[in-house]
Amino acid sequence: RAKREGRSTWHAYTADLSASVAERLALRNDLQTALDDGGFDLHYQPLVDGHTGRIVGAEALLRWPHPVRGQIPPSHFIPLAEETGQIIPLSDWVLETACRDIGRLRTGNLSDFPVMVNISPLHFQRSDFVSSIRAKLQAYALPAKCLELEITEGVLLDNAAHTIAKLGELKELGVRVSIDDFGTGYSSLNYLKNLPIDKIKIDRSFVNEVISDRHDAAITKAIIGLAHHLSLKVVAEGVETESQFWFLKRNFCDEFQGYLFARPMPFADFSIRLRERGGREVLPEPYRE
Ligand code: C2E
Ligand code: MG
Ligand code: MG
Ligand code: MG
Repeated sequence: RAKREGRSTWHAYTADLSASVAERLALRNDLQTALDDGGFDLHYQPLVDGHTGRIVGAEALLRWPHPVRGQIPPSHFIPLAEETGQIIPLSDWVLETACRDIGRLRTGNLSDFPVMVNISPLHFQRSDFVSSIRAKLQAYALPAKCLELEITEGVLLDNAAHTIAKLGELKELGVRVSIDDFGTGYSSLNYLKNLPIDKIKIDRSFVNEVISDRHDAAITKAIIGLAHHLSLKVVAEGVETESQFWFLKRNFCDEFQGYLFARPMPFADFSIRLRERGGREVLPEPYRE
């Protein structure tokens, strides 16, 4: 119902949510029901190589189609799940589902196609984190390079020694790691030189106004330069327009993710899209003077 009534209803509802303990409790119970009854979906959004248009991977994004309220965005229910601890079984479901889907892509002849999974700091911090990843790969007989993990700067903030050790174990396992939402956290640049990571994702908030705001343009160029000097790949997230794409491409961004190419979509649609287009997206034509 909420879905049909649209955006304004949603805002009214979130206002309620922060106001009412009862609402939060209800949502928490609904979350549990969804966990128990398979009420979540995992959607996939392609990452596109800026030179060839080849789909070089996909990010798995959690969806919760609430039976009464319609789609509830992850930005609303993930913090709640983190508060209640439900994030742990939820993360397990996401990893399980992603691994199963990766397996299905592989039997469809797309060997070693990588899927990126967002990792909650609460999950990462657990002592069994690396072994839980290893166990999933084993259970689905997947090579480690098929699974990439996205962590935010927040993960890197505390307990540096622990974090470096864990990232080292992941690297040894062969699982790649990206820093998500780069530029929005509070971490020092110092960590970048020490951490065994592979990729940086420029936050959507910079990409959004990269054409109209010269500060965002400057920061974006600096992030790309920094990453490349450290031999890291750079992905731009939230690329919506051709001019954003061209700005980023001219400034040597490696990979692109955003509505310009595709929205996140159900697995079935994603695998059809991969096959139908031969694993490529159409790149925008260069502007002519
Ligand atoms: P994120 O990891 O930075 O994911 C990218 C977000 O940008 C996604 O929002 C995606 O739908 C959106 N997006 C992609 N391209 C565009 C675009 O061109 N324009 C605009 N306006 N948005 C675009 P989504 O799916 O709502 O997810 C929000 C955040 O929730 C994610 O940000 C991630 O931090 C978190 N999240 C999503 N799924 C999971 C999950 O399975 N586990 C955990 N722990 N967090 C998740
Ligand atoms: Mg992400
Ligand atoms: Mg991101
Ligand atoms: Mg983001």
